Amino acid sequence: MMKLDLNESTNNNLKKTRVRACFDCHVYCIINVNNYKAIQLLQQFEKTHRGHRTQIVNLDELKPKSPTDIGYNVYQT
Ligand SMILES: [Zn+2]
Repeated sequence: MMKLDLNESTNNNLKKTRVRACFDCHVYCIINVNNYKAIQLLQQFEKTHRGHRTQIVNLDELKPKSPTDIGYNVYQT
């Protein structure tokens, strides 16, 4: 029987999760086009961060790269 590697599966999920990130504010918003509330939140995110450096990335790209890296927070209204 094959052993399930939890870290591997978590990493794969992070790679598949697309988010819109603001590099100026260090926040991100998960892109979920199947959820009405998530779409509204994304529109709010784009209004709030208009003129900032935002980009669509995979969630795993936002993981802290060093102990001093402040990382990213989930966007909330
Ligand atoms: Zn911003």
